[in-house]
Amino acid sequence: MPTGDVKQQEEGKTEREDNRHGFLTIVEALHEGILILDNGGKVLYCNAGAGALFNRPVQALVGTTLDMPAVEGGAGEVEIVHPVAGHNNVQIRVHRTTWCGREARLVVLTNIAERKVAEDELEQARQTQLRMKDEILSRVSHELRSPLTAVYQYVTILLDGLAGEINEDQREYLGIALRNVKQLQAMIGDLLDVTRSKSGKLTVNPLEMSLVESLEAALNTLRPNAQAKNLALSVQIEEGLPSAFADPQRVEQVIVNLLGNAIKFTPERGTIRMAARVCKQLPERLLAEGPAAPGKPLAPFLEIAVADSGCGIAEEDHERIFHQLYQVDKNIDQKRMGLGLGLYICRELVSRLDGRIWVESRPGEGSTFFFTLPVYTPEQALLSLLRDRLAQSKATGEPLTAVVLNVEADEEMIRPVWDALLVSVRAKAFAAAYAGTRFVVLADVGDDEAETLRNDVRRWAKDACFTAAPDLCAKLSYGVAVSDADTESADSLLTRAGSAAVSESSVLAQKKVIVVDDDEATLRLLYRVMAKGVHSVRMAASGPELFAAITQELPDLIVVDIVMPGMNGHEVIGRLKENETTAKIPIVVVSGYISENETMEDKTLGAGIPLLSKMNMNNVRRWVQHLL
Ligand code: ADP
Repeated sequence: MPTGDVKQQEEGKTEREDNRHGFLTIVEALHEGILILDNGGKVLYCNAGAGALFNRPVQALVGTTLDMPAVEGGAGEVEIVHPVAGHNNVQIRVHRTTWCGREARLVVLTNIAERKVAEDELEQARQTQLRMKDEILSRVSHELRSPLTAVYQYVTILLDGLAGEINEDQREYLGIALRNVKQLQAMIGDLLDVTRSKSGKLTVNPLEMSLVESLEAALNTLRPNAQAKNLALSVQIEEGLPSAFADPQRVEQVIVNLLGNAIKFTPERGTIRMAARVCKQLPERLLAEGPAAPGKPLAPFLEIAVADSGCGIAEEDHERIFHQLYQVDKNIDQKRMGLGLGLYICRELVSRLDGRIWVESRPGEGSTFFFTLPVYTPEQALLSLLRDRLAQSKATGEPLTAVVLNVEADEEMIRPVWDALLVSVRAKAFAAAYAGTRFVVLADVGDDEAETLRNDVRRWAKDACFTAAPDLCAKLSYGVAVSDADTESADSLLTRAGSAAVSESSVLAQKKVIVVDDDEATLRLLYRVMAKGVHSVRMAASGPELFAAITQELPDLIVVDIVMPGMNGHEVIGRLKENETTAKIPIVVVSGYISENETMEDKTLGAGIPLLSKMNMNNVRRWVQHLL
């Protein structure tokens, strides 16, 4: 090799080494941790920053194997935030590289813990500021409402002529004042709804409701506005439209808002069409965003449309108009500006009702606003009630107990029983709902009262069954569960109550009966008839024998003959009712002297005690099983 070439080579080598040295000095000085790993994860090189992150000397790290993410497929780099050696927030970036001619990974580690703390503090400050802003907004709106109501009342008094005759000019001016007051009231209402929605207090009370009524109510409110602009207004409602599961007032509020906008943004002599129908599929665009309420089935649902022939909305604004305070500049009618909160509130309300709202429109071609609502189903109503009460109990810290009744029978057969039970349970100020073969009662009680509640509900259910469908009584089962603090969901509470259920036959199997009759043959017959399905039947040949048996063990029910020598049935009942420990034991009175099923209404003996014929033992058994 010529000496010139060797010299050149030497110079090149020195330059490369200089570069490498300089480069490594820079890398060493970096605050970030730099690692070079081979494909097996072995550390080939590590700077002081990495040593500090791992809290180990650099020499101790080189040669060890570290579990670091690989650069997958074609991607040149991965980035994750991960705990490393006790540091919770380390950003890891991995790049492909070569090291001494071999494939390797360059890993850059940045400790972002301090940055995270600063970001969190900033976010907290922002939240406090937002809360204060909402608080001020909420107070101001509240305070504005009362004086405005006073202005409204006095203007209407003047307009109605209650303060004396007014001339045509005065009527016109007062009319203008009233319109503006109403507009202010609507704006304040919007502001209050927005602050309520921020603080989670924008509540909805869904129930089975008719959309037709809401559409009509909204139409009646806004018809004068449409007439003032000569707009053609029509409504098309699909035949046999099912009920919605929604809050009628809130639905009306949404329709009034959409219809009000349609009237506002449509020029004179335009058209506005409203429609309601059942739908099974959302538009593709919305499906991609996922369901409004995860875990809930989407179809079928009700779709309400408000279409106008107005100015239309450009595509880039289709989403933005649902944001707070957003108004399309070009659309602003100088004569009547709003706050730009209406559609935001509509979206909040609709999504709280498990629906969706969107717009389809082109500038100059009018707009159609759509929103959906769930179709009413008993199951949905039941779950919604349960969710509400659970949320309430979590907010107040009060316990919540659910008693779940089930029946092994056809839904149609049990419905009259459930309807009767619903009336009686609600009359006792408990929340209740049913769906299919399941009936749920909810009460703000804890563990100590859960069992009593279950027994009470069983009693009420048996009463309802006895008159409406006596055969179903034996097919009932009852479960109870007390909500478990924060983790409880509607489904889990129902499941727990369901798995704790006991059947009517197993409850009866615990019950103890005493039969009292002086005639031995009847006593044996009573014994035979009653013994089936209960725990035990004791026999007493007279009143005194009965009281002797009672002192040994209290029965759950007593069947007593009315005509007996010595102490007769009336006396037995009188003594039982006198004594506090026996007063509540159910009694069935039997007699050989009556043929009809009667109820003793003698007040001294206590009403509601059945007096039954011994000729019909089946009937006696039916009553015993009912009262047990
Ligand atoms: P506001 O009506 O008080 O401005 P909204 O939230 O109801 O507030 O509406 C926001 C904006 O969306 C409106 O300012 C308007 O620009 C646009 N918009 C709403 N409805 C229509 C419509 N039917 N046609 C055209 N533009 C509309």
